[in-house]
Amino acid sequence: MTRNPFSLGILGATTPDDNGIFDGVNEFFDSGTWLVIRNLSLFLAGVFWLATAYWVYKDARRRIEDPWLVAMATVLGLIPPFVGPLIYMLFRPPEYLEDVRERELEIKAMEERLALRDLHCPVCRAEVDETFLVCPVCTTKLKEACLNCKAPLDALWQVCPFCETPIDRPSALGIGTAIEEPRRRRMRRPRAESSEQSL
Ligand SMILES: [Zn+2]
Ligand SMILES: [Zn+2]
Repeated sequence: MTRNPFSLGILGATTPDDNGIFDGVNEFFDSGTWLVIRNLSLFLAGVFWLATAYWVYKDARRRIEDPWLVAMATVLGLIPPFVGPLIYMLFRPPEYLEDVRERELEIKAMEERLALRDLHCPVCRAEVDETFLVCPVCTTKLKEACLNCKAPLDALWQVCPFCETPIDRPSALGIGTAIEEPRRRRMRRPRAESSEQSL
């Protein structure tokens, strides 16, 4: 009997209080402070949205060569706000263009280095210089010397590029014999003689 009025009293006391809080909340949402906070958050969200789209554009330009694909990535960064950049991050190319170019240049330089190193004697595989007439290790004849200026001549040359002396070879096709013959005639003998002398 005494509890009911008590509880009613509490209810009676709480209901205006609740209304008071509700009114306060309503007042707060109607107030200028809320407007300022809401506009500020909207503004920040907009700035963040544009910033993520700009980041997608910058990143896409560093990774994608085709300008149309860059434009499409930028649109994707803009259109589902904040989700677009995440989707872009899932599908973007894994490497920067400059890294790809750098690696290609490195591979090319390595191939050139290997090609340079490839200059060696066909018989004993010793490294030889482009200007060598004879392999210094096994005395294999590598190149003919110009009769006039003694410059080393390439196998395909028809005339000495240094002194314009025409090159007459025993036969245009018999390169093997052209190399073999002088080696036996000119190179083997001095080597044998010198080794005999040294012994
Ligand atoms: Zn050799
Ligand atoms: Zn010459």
